[in-house]
Amino acid sequence: MKTLEPLIFDLSQEGRSGVSLPPCDVPEVSLETLVPREFLREREAELPQVSEVDVVRHFTRLSTFNHGVDTGFYPLGSCTMKYNPKVNERLARLPGFSQIHPYQPEGLVQGALGLMVELQEDLAEITGMDAFTLQPAAGAHGEMTGILIIKAYHEQQRDFKRTKVIVPDSAHGTNPATAAMAGFEIVQVPSNERGGVDIEALRQAANEEVAALMLTNPNTLGLFDVNILEIAKIIHDVGGLIYYDGANANAIMGIARPGDMGFDVVHLNLHKTFSTPHGGGGPGSGPVGVKEFLAPYLPKPVAVRTSDGKFTLDADRPLSIGRVRAFQANFGVLVRAYAYIRALGGEGLTAASQNAVLNANFLMNILKEHYHLPYDRICMHEFVITPQNLKGYGVHTLDIAKRLLDYGYHPPTIYFPLIVEEAMMIEPTETESMETLEQFAQVMIKIAAEVQDDVEMVKNAPYTTLVTRLDETGAARKPDLRWRKVED
Ligand SMILES: *Cc1c(COP(=O)(O)O)cnc(C)c1O
Repeated sequence: MKTLEPLIFDLSQEGRSGVSLPPCDVPEVSLETLVPREFLREREAELPQVSEVDVVRHFTRLSTFNHGVDTGFYPLGSCTMKYNPKVNERLARLPGFSQIHPYQPEGLVQGALGLMVELQEDLAEITGMDAFTLQPAAGAHGEMTGILIIKAYHEQQRDFKRTKVIVPDSAHGTNPATAAMAGFEIVQVPSNERGGVDIEALRQAANEEVAALMLTNPNTLGLFDVNILEIAKIIHDVGGLIYYDGANANAIMGIARPGDMGFDVVHLNLHKTFSTPHGGGGPGSGPVGVKEFLAPYLPKPVAVRTSDGKFTLDADRPLSIGRVRAFQANFGVLVRAYAYIRALGGEGLTAASQNAVLNANFLMNILKEHYHLPYDRICMHEFVITPQNLKGYGVHTLDIAKRLLDYGYHPPTIYFPLIVEEAMMIEPTETESMETLEQFAQVMIKIAAEVQDDVEMVKNAPYTTLVTRLDETGAARKPDLRWRKVED
C-alpha cells in the first residue's frame, strides 16, 4: 500500500547533511553588506536535515504517485497527451542549445537562430500560412497575440467600428477569454445538429462590427466542419478576419491546411501536436502564423534570413504589435518541435495524423455500443461520449472518470465541451497500439457493467490511489504548495 508518509521532514535528523562543501577560500563578508537588512530572515529556515539518498528516494517515490504518459494511457481529450520521443529530449539538452544566453551576440548563436527560421518555415508549410512568430509561450498566449494582430490591422485600416468577436458555443474557453481581454465584445453562435457552426446563425451575427471569428476545426467535439469555406466567406464578406485555434492540429498535419481553408491567423500548440511533454504544466509554445498582409504586425523581433545566408533578429518593424514576452521563446520546446518535424518529415507527419484519426474512430466504434454517442459521425483526433444511457442508475461522468483511476488509466477530459451534458472527451493519439486501445475499451465496458451491478461501488471510487476524491476547485483556486512544520 502506498502512503504519503513519511514526508522528507519526518526523515530529518539533527546534523545530517547531503552536501559537503570545500572550506571557503575567499574572504568572508557579512550577509548584511550584500542584502539590505529588511530582506534578511529573522530566524533560521526550518529545512530538513537529510542525506543525499534520502532526498533522491523521497522525490523518486513522489514521482511514482503521478500518472504520466510514460507510465500509462492518457486519453485526455483536447490535450494530445501523445508519447514524446526521448531523442527529442536529448537534442533539446545539447549544450549548443541549452547553454546559450539570449544576450549572446548573433554571430555566436547562428545555429539557434537558423533553427528558429527553419521551424517558422516548416510551420508555415504545415499550416499554409506565410509568416510565423515563435514568441508566445502557450496556446492562450498565441490567441492573445493573434487577436492583437487582428486588432492592430483593423486600426491601421482606420476601421474602428469592429468591436465584436464571434465564437461558437463549442469553443475552448480560452477563445472568448482572449477576445474579452483584448477588449472585444463576444458574440456566441450555436452549433447545428451535426456539431458544426450553425450557418444561418453565423450569417445573422456577421456584420461590419465583426473584427474576427475564432474557430477550431476540427472542433472540440472532434468533428471537422465541412462548411469551412462558406464560413470563411461569410466573415470575409463583411470585412472580418478569421482566426484558427490550432491547439489541436493532430488530425490535420499533411492532410488539410488552415491557410487553404481561408484562415488569416493561426496558432499551434507545439507542446500538444509537436512533441513536448506537458502534463505538469511545464513550458509550452504557441507560435502564431499569419497571411502575408498581416506579417508586418507580428511581434518583434522576428528571426529572419539575411541576404548573405546568415540569420538575424529583425526588430525594424514599425507596425509590429511589439514584444509579447521577454527574449525569443521557450526555446527548448522549439528544439523538440524541430526535431520531431524533421525526424518524421512530411510523410511521417501525415501518417501520424492518419493514425490519430484511425485510433479515435476505432475506439469510438467499440465504445458507442456501451455509451451514448451524441454525434454519430466519423470523428477526427477525438470524440465525445456520455453515460446518458446509464443515467437511470444515478451514475455521473465524474464517477466513471474516478473508477478509471483504479484500473490505471488517466481519465478522459470530462464536462467539456460544455454543449454536451456529462461529456467525456477521449483523445487516444497516434502513439497508442491497438492492444492498448482494446484494453482501455474493455475497462470502459467493464465499468458500464459495474454501474448496472453496484453503482454505489462506482460512486465511491477510486480505491487504489493515495487520496480519493479531492476538492478540485479548492486545489486549483487555493493551492497549498508549501510544507509548513506543524508546531506541536
Ligand atoms: C489546449 C487548448 C488551448 C489552450 O492552450 P494552452 O497552451 O493551455 O494555453 C486553446 N484551445 C484549444 C482548442 C485547446 O485544446
